[in-house]
Amino acid sequence: MPATPALSAPAAGAPFDKTTIERRELRPQDVQIDVEYCGICHSDIHQVRDEWGGAIYPMVPGHEIAGVVAAVGSDVDRFSVGDRVGVGCMVDSCGECEYCLAGEEQFCVKGNVQTYNARDYEGEVTYGGYSQQIVVKDHFVVKIPDAIELQDAAPLLCAGITTYVPLKHWRVGEGSKVAVIGMGGLGHVGVQIAAAMGAEVTVLSQSLSKQEDGLRFGAKHYYATSDRDTFKQLQGSFDLILNTVSANLNLDAYLRLLRVDGTMVSVGAPSQPDKVHAFSLIGGRRSLAGSAIGGLPDTQEMLDFCAEHDVRPAIELISADAVDGAYDRVVRSDVRYRFVIDVATIG
Ligand code: NAP
Ligand code: ZN
Repeated sequence: MPATPALSAPAAGAPFDKTTIERRELRPQDVQIDVEYCGICHSDIHQVRDEWGGAIYPMVPGHEIAGVVAAVGSDVDRFSVGDRVGVGCMVDSCGECEYCLAGEEQFCVKGNVQTYNARDYEGEVTYGGYSQQIVVKDHFVVKIPDAIELQDAAPLLCAGITTYVPLKHWRVGEGSKVAVIGMGGLGHVGVQIAAAMGAEVTVLSQSLSKQEDGLRFGAKHYYATSDRDTFKQLQGSFDLILNTVSANLNLDAYLRLLRVDGTMVSVGAPSQPDKVHAFSLIGGRRSLAGSAIGGLPDTQEMLDFCAEHDVRPAIELISADAVDGAYDRVVRSDVRYRFVIDVATIG
């Protein structure tokens, strides 16, 4: 297979290089995809900067991948050349354990294979969607509904599924009171999905600077967490709090905003541990939980849900040359609300 243009991080903290990578020859179960758009997730930044440890360089990030099928292996019957498809955070799993069989491949007992910064079951390093082509086992490819533009679909493959799954798992619906902490890439999609599920949604953001957007995304209320009164005013208010923040927070202060039996779900993944006081949980029989992306059946369901309910990320489409600058803007919480790379500009 010819070399494919890619953006590669040579080391922690170094700017991206334009380079080429080799993709594997098509196996019978493989789908070869011409990547058109790839979202920039804060997890890309954590990994490129080695904030979680164990980074493998050179690294080609990207797990919010949208493109078009270019070729299929001999055993693939679910996809044809020309189909609009997506790939998220996983490219393989054992397929046999109880979690894989339940469609929760993210919890595969053998360990799922992440789309980049990982080794596949043959020991080869995986490279993600900041590249013009990718070859992926068909099970890990989803169909993008006609109603969703490819560049809008890209962020849904991580930001969409990561917020959809906890909202579904904790049975958010009509009458639920949901708060979303942090209105960045994940948060702004989470607000829309929770509102589409029928919840009364509150955004808890560092300031009121994005209030108008939050209300447009479907939130009923918007509070600044820099205002100490916010925490007094909202004590005991929420059934579910979705924490999408990439940094450590004072979790005790947020847990007290839950009603009795309420749950705070962390999807944000700061590199340092959080501290929690037991009394913040004991007081209201509250739960502190976490959630990781989502399995393939839920990913397809989420895309169909977003198509039907008009959930769309707000994106800034950028060229390959702008990726380093975009990373700095994401870290400064200066993103409105997801950067998406026009992958054609890599070559
Ligand atoms: P993002 O676009 O940077 O959004 C995070 C938002 O959190 C910011 O926009 C900001 O919102 C708020 N924030 C940032 N720093 C803060 C601080 N010091 N204090 C309070 N609020 C702060 O990032 P993202 O792409 O949505 O990802 C968010 C986190 O989720 C990352 O840690 C990422 O690795 C993780 N993640 C986890 C999963 C999973 O499966 N669990 C999947 C994807 C991503 P405001 O300006 O509104 O305050
Ligand atoms: Zn992600």
